[in-house]
Amino acid sequence: MRNQRRIKESKAIKIVDFWCKECGRDFKANGVRVIKTYEREDPRAIYMANCPVEHLCIRHITDIELDPYFRLSKNVRQSRHKYAKDVLQPGQDGYTMYYGEEKDRREA
Ligand SMILES: [Zn+2]
Repeated sequence: MRNQRRIKESKAIKIVDFWCKECGRDFKANGVRVIKTYEREDPRAIYMANCPVEHLCIRHITDIELDPYFRLSKNVRQSRHKYAKDVLQPGQDGYTMYYGEEKDRREA
């Protein structure tokens, strides 16, 4: 039950990078975790938030391969370009998408 572990390790509310496909822009917001459980399958979870003009946006916590954020986000595309030749360090933009869980930014 790989997803269960991911969900357990995730936070109920967390500042997350979102991409609004309606607005075509990146934004950060408090993502609220929503867990879906199924009778015979692994549970699944997403973060949900509204963009500044109230479009509903999601990020996948489980099923990350389904997450269109990495394909669409301008921030991600710029980071890829900018850091393509560098070794990413913790705290740099782009680190998260290569190395997974980002450090808690609520204290910032
Ligand atoms: Zn929007």
